[in-house]
Amino acid sequence: MGGVLVMLDRIAIASALREIGALLTVQGGARFRARAYATAARALESWNAKPEALSDPTALMALPGIGRALAQVIVRLRRTGRNSLLERLRQELPKGVLQLRQVPHMTLRRIRILQEALGIATVAELKTACADGRVRAVKGFGEKLVQNIRDGLAKWETEGGLLLLPHAEREGHGLLAFVRNLPGVRDAALAGEIRRRAETTKVVAMAVAAVDPERVVDDIVHYPPVVAVIEHRADGCILRLADGAMVRVDVGPVQTFAGLLLWATGAAVHGDRLVEIARHRGMELDRRGLTRHASGRTVVAEDEAALYRQLGLPFIPPEMREGAGEVEAALAGTLPTDLIGEDDIQGLVHCHTDYSDGMHSIEQMARAADDLGMKYLTITDHSPTAHYANGVAPDRLQKQWDEIARVQELVQVTLLRGTECDILADGSLDYDDDILARLDVIIASIHNRYKMDAEQMTRRLVTAMRHPFFKIWGHALGRFVARRPPIECRVEEVLDAAAESRVAIELNGDPHRLDMEPHWQRQARARGIPFVVSTDAHSIGQFANLGYGVSLARRGWVTRGETLNALGTAAFRAAVRPV
Ligand SMILES: [Zn+2]
Ligand SMILES: [Zn+2]
Repeated sequence: MGGVLVMLDRIAIASALREIGALLTVQGGARFRARAYATAARALESWNAKPEALSDPTALMALPGIGRALAQVIVRLRRTGRNSLLERLRQELPKGVLQLRQVPHMTLRRIRILQEALGIATVAELKTACADGRVRAVKGFGEKLVQNIRDGLAKWETEGGLLLLPHAEREGHGLLAFVRNLPGVRDAALAGEIRRRAETTKVVAMAVAAVDPERVVDDIVHYPPVVAVIEHRADGCILRLADGAMVRVDVGPVQTFAGLLLWATGAAVHGDRLVEIARHRGMELDRRGLTRHASGRTVVAEDEAALYRQLGLPFIPPEMREGAGEVEAALAGTLPTDLIGEDDIQGLVHCHTDYSDGMHSIEQMARAADDLGMKYLTITDHSPTAHYANGVAPDRLQKQWDEIARVQELVQVTLLRGTECDILADGSLDYDDDILARLDVIIASIHNRYKMDAEQMTRRLVTAMRHPFFKIWGHALGRFVARRPPIECRVEEVLDAAAESRVAIELNGDPHRLDMEPHWQRQARARGIPFVVSTDAHSIGQFANLGYGVSLARRGWVTRGETLNALGTAAFRAAVRPV
């Protein structure tokens, strides 16, 4: 958008809000405000309301993240097409700054200098000016810096940033809402890593069925958050969004949508195996689905399950399409069919309250668990060694039990007394046995001394697991997605000890943790070790981590029967009771 527009529509308003948010971010120093604009933009993009609602502050304020001030901004944008903050930011910041700022080494200051000296306002112009030597001629742009920028440009064109799953989902759902509203679109679904529930996403992938695919692609490249069109074909496009996310959209005819979705979802290894199997059966598998060699005819398939059936395979859920031996297991009939699902979960495990570092009280957490229809909720605050997290000393623990007893009178959900007990450096647990003996649920986790060598760490864990009160191993290997590697230990040996001591492994649904990883889960399954799928919730909102935890378990092929918190209250208590 530019110039004076009158009566903006929903997407144009969202685009203006997005631009304000992004420009505030580039300018620096107003992170909270920038985020508020981005949130409001996203809320509008996925809002299915009549255009009149855009002029109604009350309706707008019902959207997540839109308060009175932002509602007024939207109403004014709708009426006048103008926003003074946006106009000021555009004036103060160099043209094209949002795009240029994403190229590594292009700081705001350098963008300003190149704009004044050479008038560069797009990535394409920057690329040309780097290649023909004009950038090198600008004062302050030495040989090394120019090379770095050129490397940065190459990187920018081929790689997206690594998005954590919730971020990728937000971008994906925003685009999905936009695409579903385009004329001629019959179906659209997220695919690729998001659909496989991978912990990180390089490319937000989507499959779209349309009456006229080429026309729909032409519309999609005008999605407001797009800052660069990397590739534009008749049957798809690759785009870069304002916040750096890469997007790949594949568009095909309605009749072959199942094939397109299958093709756009699986990891490459999974797809390659299916192609091989198809050839053995006299068919070709590609983005149109299956085609018979003999007749050249496309096999009509109403969904992915029908395509798998044609290949002689059971339906393989998206979370399993990683090329981790799932096709062989399916052929051999050993692929688990009763994967754990979110509806199977009966109790919320691993929840913090304001007794340690949680945000909400026991009563608030319990009432929220009631609203979700949960049968039990484990209150597992930190133990004293986690002093930075306000770990609960024994005297306060007694107080917490009294509070749990009081709240229990008010709610349906059964409240279980628990702890997330630190595993100390020598493998002992942070509370004395007489305290541990009085708890219903003990999750034991490592929160300090991550950097022991493998020998020490293995001994620490094996020692801890021999403790009769060690029942659930919390966020097992301690990694943070894309930020901190797992602890070093001999995992197989620790898993053997866990199996021997009848320890359950927690699958932590915090999207920053998603621990333990699927290949280790399969190793644990082979040893008969059970699991709990946890939220590690530090607030009511984080009960939603359950969905991520369940996806993580499905990626590790974990079944309902292997998941302790798919059990009812009495059976769960018995399974985790300290002995
Ligand atoms: Zn923890
Ligand atoms: Zn925790």
